[in-house]
Amino acid sequence: MNPYEMACRQLERSAELIDLKEDVVEYLKVPDRVLKVKIPVKMDNGRIKIFLGYRAQHCGVRGPYKGGVRYHPDVTMEEVIALAMWMTWKCALVNIPFGGGKGGVRVNPKELSKNELERLTRRFITAIMPIIGAERDIPAPDIYTDEQTMAWMMDTYSVNKGYTVPGIVTGKPVELGGSVGRSSATGRGVAIITRESAKAIGMNLKDASVAIQGFGNVGYWTAKILEEMGARIIAVSDSKGGVVDYDGIDVNSLKEYKVRHGSVVGFAEEISNEELLEMKVDILIPAAIGGVIHRDNVDKVKARMVVEAANGPITPEAEKKLDKRCELVVPDILANAGGVVVSYFEWVQDLERYFWDLERVNKELERIMVNAFREMMKVKNEFGYILWRDAAMIIALRRVVKALELRGIFP
Ligand code: GLU
Repeated sequence: MNPYEMACRQLERSAELIDLKEDVVEYLKVPDRVLKVKIPVKMDNGRIKIFLGYRAQHCGVRGPYKGGVRYHPDVTMEEVIALAMWMTWKCALVNIPFGGGKGGVRVNPKELSKNELERLTRRFITAIMPIIGAERDIPAPDIYTDEQTMAWMMDTYSVNKGYTVPGIVTGKPVELGGSVGRSSATGRGVAIITRESAKAIGMNLKDASVAIQGFGNVGYWTAKILEEMGARIIAVSDSKGGVVDYDGIDVNSLKEYKVRHGSVVGFAEEISNEELLEMKVDILIPAAIGGVIHRDNVDKVKARMVVEAANGPITPEAEKKLDKRCELVVPDILANAGGVVVSYFEWVQDLERYFWDLERVNKELERIMVNAFREMMKVKNEFGYILWRDAAMIIALRRVVKALELRGIFP
């Protein structure tokens, strides 16, 4: 099942629970717009290499499209559309005035030099310029894109416009109109939701054991903030493999090690990514790529609680089984929404040219995340036996469908 089929399956399942009409479901399955672009890059050796890039805009009824851009060798158009659809639900669930968008370039960024990456980024943004804009569609970081990528994007767009447009992307460096607290926001949101979820099932977060797959921006900040909250991070992995220490891993030391060696591997006793997912832990957090918990390994997952920090890490088939095995499976559209929430704050600050301090950013993030969690709990209790994802989806769908009804279909 490709990610788009997976997203449609999730949509159908929750739409059925609220008796959504078939034509509305059809409307929501089809993205508003998808642009596929050729990205020719002059490589350092003088040869031209062609990459493919996509920007999908899923549903704009609640506001401008919003979502990250990922650089990954496995990017496909179907995946980008699915990710854009998840952004629509995510923004609606936390009630920020955006529709879902997503971009992707099919490239292995680790094989490109910094200069090549800069040229790729600038050409990609130029190619999608006709459909993006601060009032239209606002990109942000995702897998293997970061603050520097956003700075190049902002510069390219601004140079083409003839004036600086900070609100064209979020996740920028603070020096260029980025928001304080944006880089830690997704991880902070994951940690807040993990804390609330633990409370909900009567688990004490103090000394709870945690395994995290992925040690990029999201994995690192999730680990760091959960560690601050008193949890014990016992296993962490990246694309090259993982490490385990039952006494607890010191997150900052691990980060320093990864910066020096390019991977977490070697920091402590080694385990594979597969083994990490199957560990007997209180909390398992997949924070890397999609589809890692599937039909073939779901029966081996032993965690009490699974928190989806990545987008789409559990296939719908596996999720049903996992829901029976675990006490709580927290859906991505809630767990990782902290990133786009602070992106929203960043965009508001850019438009107002008035910047907040870290205390305000974190306080408002906390409020939005906790409210969304409580709303999800309420819907879950109302409906009785449904997946946590369905509860989250029902809230999002109701908001999107209401906006669609109010706006009507043109002409
Ligand atoms: N890429 C992130 C996500 O999947 C952040 C998107 C944004 O900030 O617009 O939610």
